[in-house]
Amino acid sequence: MSLVILQKPPRGEPCNRCGVCCTRELCAIAMGIFRPGAGDWYPHSDEWAGPCPALEPAENGQTACGVFAHPERYIIADKETIAERLTIGRGCLAPD
Ligand code: SF4
Ligand code: SF4
Repeated sequence: MSLVILQKPPRGEPCNRCGVCCTRELCAIAMGIFRPGAGDWYPHSDEWAGPCPALEPAENGQTACGVFAHPERYIIADKETIAERLTIGRGCLAPD
């Protein structure tokens, strides 16, 4: 079931927290948490497809980012996981 209730405003208008963006595509933080090591960072591809599992319902039909609201639920405890998510040891992944 979609969490989206509110209509997305036109690009450039104030954010109303409809959550459309997070249902369409994961952000860079979500990619690091939920799909570590998935492809290159750019360009966005099917690997970035949403919905984000961290998107939560909020008051008045709005949505909230669970990573921002409850960061303790997404804490990475061991160094191996941190190294994997930071892509340590995989060489330079920055675009030239
Ligand atoms: S939640 Fe995302 S899609 Fe909705 S208004 Fe804000 S930035 Fe736009
Ligand atoms: S819910 Fe949070 S972590 Fe998920 S895509 Fe949206 S902003 Fe990123």
